[in-house]
Amino acid sequence: MSRSAHPAGPRHADVLPEGHYSAPATDLNELDPKVWSRTVARDADGALTVGGIEVARLAEEFGTPAYFIDESDFRARCRAWSDAFGADADVFYAGKAFLSRAVVRWLREEGLNLDVCSGGELATALDAGMPAENIAFHGNNKTVAEIERAVDAGVGRIVLDSFQEIVRVSHIAQRRGVRQRVQIRVTVGVEAHTHEFIATAHEDQKFGIALADGQAAEAVRRALTLDGLELIGIHSHIGSQIFDMAGFEVSARRVVQLLAEIRDEHGVELPEIDLGGGLGIAYTSEDDPSEPHEIAKALSDIVTRECESAGLRTPRISVEPGRAIVGPTAFTLYEVGTIKPLEGLRTYVSVDGGMSDNIRTALYDAEYSVALVSRTSEAEPMLVRVVGKHCESGDIVVKDAFLPSDLAPGDLIAVPATGAYCRSMASNYNHALRPPVVAVRDGQARVIVRRETEDDLLRLDVG
Ligand SMILES: *Cc1c(COP(=O)(O)O)cnc(C)c1O
Repeated sequence: MSRSAHPAGPRHADVLPEGHYSAPATDLNELDPKVWSRTVARDADGALTVGGIEVARLAEEFGTPAYFIDESDFRARCRAWSDAFGADADVFYAGKAFLSRAVVRWLREEGLNLDVCSGGELATALDAGMPAENIAFHGNNKTVAEIERAVDAGVGRIVLDSFQEIVRVSHIAQRRGVRQRVQIRVTVGVEAHTHEFIATAHEDQKFGIALADGQAAEAVRRALTLDGLELIGIHSHIGSQIFDMAGFEVSARRVVQLLAEIRDEHGVELPEIDLGGGLGIAYTSEDDPSEPHEIAKALSDIVTRECESAGLRTPRISVEPGRAIVGPTAFTLYEVGTIKPLEGLRTYVSVDGGMSDNIRTALYDAEYSVALVSRTSEAEPMLVRVVGKHCESGDIVVKDAFLPSDLAPGDLIAVPATGAYCRSMASNYNHALRPPVVAVRDGQARVIVRRETEDDLLRLDVG
C-alpha cells in the first residue's frame, strides 16, 4: 500500500522538465569538504573513512542505516562558536537539533551552554551533568510540571513565551520563594529562511509575543511587577537555515529599540539580548554558510551600533546555534537495495531507511547530497532519487542527485549533513527501528545512542 500524505500539490508530483538537470561538472568521487564532516576522506582504495575508520568496517560492526557523528568535528565547531563570541557573549547549543548524554558531556567539556524545550530534553541535560545554571528552557506550551522541574533544578533562564506563562512561572517561583531569571521571547515581524527574509506585517505564528501593537512592551510591564521573576533580557529567534544577515539586522534593531523603550518607561537597562539560532549550513555544494567568527562579528557590530545610537550600554549577547554545530558533523550510512530505472525520468534508488530516519525532505522539501562511499566509480553519472523503504510515496531522502550508473544493490551510500533534526525527528513509522548514533574519533567508534530493537517496540506495546 502506498499513498501520499501530502496534499496533491506539485511538490512531489512534478515531472522534471527535459534537460533541466545536467550532469554535474565535478567528479562524483570527489567529496566537497563543505558538506562532509572534517575527518571524512577517501582512503587509497577509494572507500570513505571517518575518524580514520573505513565505512565498510563501520557498516559491518554497527549495521545500516546508521548515523555516524564526527566527535572531533563536533568539538571543534563548539570551540569555533565560543571563541568567535568570546567572553562577553554566551553560546547555547539548541538541544532539539540532536541531544544525547554524550553530546551534553562534549558541550560541557567545550564550555557551551544548552537550550532545552521539553521535560525530556531537560532530563537528559541534567542526567548528563549539565549545570542547571547553564541551561535555558524554551517552548510555547511548557507544562506546569515542566516549569516546576526547571525552577526546582535552578535553570539559568526560562524564556517566557506568552502572557499566561509570565504569570504561571512567577507563581511557581514565588511558591518556592525564589526569583526565576527569565527572558521574554518577542516576535519582531521578521521571518528568515535560507537566502531571503520576509518582513511580515503581523505575527501569524505560535511563538513569542509580538513587538507590534505594544504587546511585548506590555509583557515587560507585567514581568517587571511580578515578584517571582527577574527579567534579564529579550529573546528573538527569526527562523532557520539562514544565510543572509539582513534578518538578524532588523531583529537586533527592533529588540534594541524595545530595550530603549524599557529604559525610558521603567528606568532599567536589561542586561541581555538573545538573537536565537537559525544559522545555515551546507547541505549541498550550492550552499555557502558563513563562519562563526563572521557571524559573531556581524551580530556584535549590529548590536553595538544600535545601542550606541539609542544611548544604551551594550547588553550581553547570546546565540543559540543548533544545526550550525551538529548538522555538518554527521552523515547517514545506507545500504542500497532495489534500483528502479524509470525511462526518461530518473532512477529510483531504494535504501534500507528513509523518512523514519530523515523526515526533513518530506517535511520541508529539504535538499541533500549523496555519495557512493564503499568504492569509487568511473561510470557515467545518472540522475537518481534516493527513496526509503516506507509505505508512502513521499518517502524521499534525496530528491535529485547524481550517482554513478554502475550502482548496485549492496553498495553503501551516505547522505552528509544529517547531524541536525534527523535522529531527533526520527520515528517508528512502519515499526522501523530507529538507527543508532555512532561517535567516531581518532580511529575509535562507539555507540552513543543504540539501535532500537524489536524488543524495544514490543515493550511499549503492552497488549
Ligand atoms: C530551533 C531553535 C534554535 C536552533 O535553531 P537552528 O536552526 O538549529 O540553529 C534556537 N533557538 C530557538 C528558540 C529555537 O526554537
